[in-house]
Amino acid sequence: MHVAHLPYAYFEGRIVPLEEAKVSVATHALQYGTGVFGGIRGYLDQDGSTINIFRLRDHFTRFAQSAGLIKIGLPLDLDGLCDLAVELTRKNRPTGNVYFRPFAYKAGLDLGPTLTGVDDGFTVYMLPLGDYYAAPNGLSVMVSSWQRISDNAIPARGKVSGAYINSSITKDEAQGYGFDEAILLNTRGKVSEGSACNLMLVRNGRLITPPVTADILEGITRRSVLQLADDLGIPVEEREVDRTELYVADELFFCGTGVQVTWIGQVDKRPVGDGRPGPITTQLQGRFFDIVQGRAPEYADWLTRVAIPAAVAAD
Ligand code: PMP
Repeated sequence: MHVAHLPYAYFEGRIVPLEEAKVSVATHALQYGTGVFGGIRGYLDQDGSTINIFRLRDHFTRFAQSAGLIKIGLPLDLDGLCDLAVELTRKNRPTGNVYFRPFAYKAGLDLGPTLTGVDDGFTVYMLPLGDYYAAPNGLSVMVSSWQRISDNAIPARGKVSGAYINSSITKDEAQGYGFDEAILLNTRGKVSEGSACNLMLVRNGRLITPPVTADILEGITRRSVLQLADDLGIPVEEREVDRTELYVADELFFCGTGVQVTWIGQVDKRPVGDGRPGPITTQLQGRFFDIVQGRAPEYADWLTRVAIPAAVAAD
């Protein structure tokens, strides 16, 4: 997916035109995958002049935790990171939905993969982002022949750059076979998640998802959907999930910043439920979009509202 980025980025302590945000080919993170990133969505509000950033502070909290896992220090605290996202949004003046990509990385040119003593870098850039998947028939997914990384090999709950080889190889395999996405089992053989999204099942009116100890990335959308279900009185279970539960589930859907809430129509060529989006998925998806698009005031604390300044000629 080739994208046109928004014009300004934060790099080496200031906001600069994106073309100036460049690193050396010898950068530690480029060589060894020693970076951590975030993926945050901002939605244009119904008013057309406000961007609602979804759970900004929660995303940066996980980002800071990810950085800590591989000993990367951040130049800003949580408030500073949130303020920066707001400032960058104003500077970029988006006219539609956006995606923020904060990236903290080992910026030193050191040889050898150790972490301690290697200089750190930090950047944020933005791009316009509409819906990731248009899935009128639901996603078609396969259980991957690859396993989800084990937390004892690479921190699974951190959004660590190098770990995304696992996502790349999984997604590429699935698409190569003509599927949209993959579901990974973990090294214990239990269901973990999608290549870059969490997985939810519905069985007998209960919402089920693998626990945070199933080598998943602890998704902010996952947490939000669990909260929404709870608020709607839908019983929720966080527990280990077997592969064949996927085949007998009434409903299956992915959730994540990229996929948002997207239903799965078939898994390993077996239709899920009656092959239509199920009632619980539809209800949660509707709720989710109401919230992010600013139509659910009771969840207003999940949104950071940024008023976009009107363009002025001599800016
Ligand atoms: N798992 C992986 C591996 C991911 O990359 C993502 C996307 N960040 C998710 C799950 C979903 O997390 P979130 O809801 O925080 O975007």
